[in-house]
Amino acid sequence: MSPKLRLFLDHALHEGQAVPLGEAEANYLFAVMRAQKGTPVALFNGRDGEWEAVVDETGRRSGSLRVGTRLRVQAQPPDLWLLFAPLKKTRTDFVIEKAVEMGVARILPVLTGHTNSERVNVARLQAHAREAAEQCGALHVPEVAAPVPLMPLLDGWDDRPLWFCDEHLAGTRIHPPQAARGAVLIGPEGGFTDAERARLRTMPQAVPVALGPRILRAETAAVAALTLWQITCGDWR
Ligand code: SAH
Repeated sequence: MSPKLRLFLDHALHEGQAVPLGEAEANYLFAVMRAQKGTPVALFNGRDGEWEAVVDETGRRSGSLRVGTRLRVQAQPPDLWLLFAPLKKTRTDFVIEKAVEMGVARILPVLTGHTNSERVNVARLQAHAREAAEQCGALHVPEVAAPVPLMPLLDGWDDRPLWFCDEHLAGTRIHPPQAARGAVLIGPEGGFTDAERARLRTMPQAVPVALGPRILRAETAAVAALTLWQITCGDWR
């Protein structure tokens, strides 16, 4: 049986390896989770797969683990990005958590004309992504990029298919084509501006996507579009 505790650590993992713990990990394992010497912990680092380790040394601000056998080999997530306009704090947290569970490789907050909240604490969101990966059994923690304005990002966009989820298409039937990589773009609660929509419609890489007959909240739209991408192009096939 796999250990109940699961941690992402940016450290080499192979059999017999000693892994030192930082203050935050030591606090989590020993103060919060009450782990003791010998307690099993599953480890992953985004490169070497998942390993069974046991607590070797405990301390208030430090400690170490000893790596045992490998539980799973590394698998890379599908090459899928999520672009979304930051929402209020709890809704943004929800989007990050669900994006990780849905197997996104990279998360890019984008600032659009109607974006509600421009202040984004990237380090906090990155920590949130890491916790979500630990909890859902992912072998990879997606990077959360610093927020960038949408229009210049589109100006420099390469040939990656961009699933433009357009609320004006609600109720139409559009079946986006299969592709090996992609990005999903979700607008803010206020929707896209006319200028943004016009710009997106001129882009050959943009794939118009309709998400059913109803207008979804942005965070619902993100989960729905990522599900559709995983079914059409990703690791749900
Ligand atoms: N205020 C807008 C709705 C914005 S919903 C209006 O009333 O028209 C927030 C985002 O979710 C949209 O920008 C879009 O990216 C996505 N979205 C919501 N419902 C959708 C649908 N049915 N089809 C495609 N995208 C949708």
